[in-house]
Amino acid sequence: MSPRSHNLVFLGPPGAGKGTQAARWALRHGLAHISTGDLLRENLKDQTSVGMMAQDFMDRGVLVPDDVVCQMVRDRLEHQDTEPGFILDGFPRTVGQADALARDLARRHRPLTRVVSFAVREEDLVVRLAGRLTCGRCGRVFHQKSNAPKAQGVCDDCDGELFSRSDDSEETVLARLATYREETAPLLSWYRDRDLLTDIDASQSIEAVEGALERALECQ
Ligand code: ADP
Ligand code: ADP
Ligand code: ZN
Repeated sequence: MSPRSHNLVFLGPPGAGKGTQAARWALRHGLAHISTGDLLRENLKDQTSVGMMAQDFMDRGVLVPDDVVCQMVRDRLEHQDTEPGFILDGFPRTVGQADALARDLARRHRPLTRVVSFAVREEDLVVRLAGRLTCGRCGRVFHQKSNAPKAQGVCDDCDGELFSRSDDSEETVLARLATYREETAPLLSWYRDRDLLTDIDASQSIEAVEGALERALECQ
């Protein structure tokens, strides 16, 4: 399949499979995969000023302030690897972020081509997040049951150790779902009104979601 130039947003609640699908789609189509959650966790690991200020928000399952996240994305979009196109995974998460992004991209003459909404029922999200395993070395994501690594506790790609994110605890997951409903869900109609939104049934298997994504984006 030929690579396609797309500037995409993957939008959806925590655990919907945005990161899993973004990693696969970016690899297949030569796009940059930009996850604000991953960028923030790297900042945390490196103890940067952004990481230190973000930590408390992330631990509580609430959003890091818009100006911090928007500046981080602005810097990341300067990298050359975004030129063939990019997938924003987990950004924007507020109408303020969406607005700032639209203005930045207009200035760069690289508007969004599509926003994909990943829909999954809340009960299923809780199960997905409770079993999520993340590689401490390369960031690849697995699931204890639905997407198990070949060897227990070890990443298939880099042999790194797998861990459960501290914000995937039940209490923080409930806070993150509430944050999603209140602050991020309004973006669905915001993007629908701008004719950019495509809905995907993300409750299916990883392969079936990938197929749905393929069909949804192929005629773009
Ligand atoms: P998000 O980036 O939207 O928070 P992830 O891609 O990290 O979601 O996926 C959350 C968890 O659900 C991970 O453990 C992942 O392996 C698993 N997962 C992802 N997609 C599916 C799917 N279609 N069916 C079942 N489990 C999935
Ligand atoms: P998930 O994969 O479950 O959707 P992420 O890894 O994207 O979670 O995000 C983890 C945490 O990082 C969020 O709970 C939030 O505190 C912070 N975060 C990530 N992206 C953003 C964003 N666009 N705006 C504000 N905070 C963010
Ligand atoms: Zn790994």
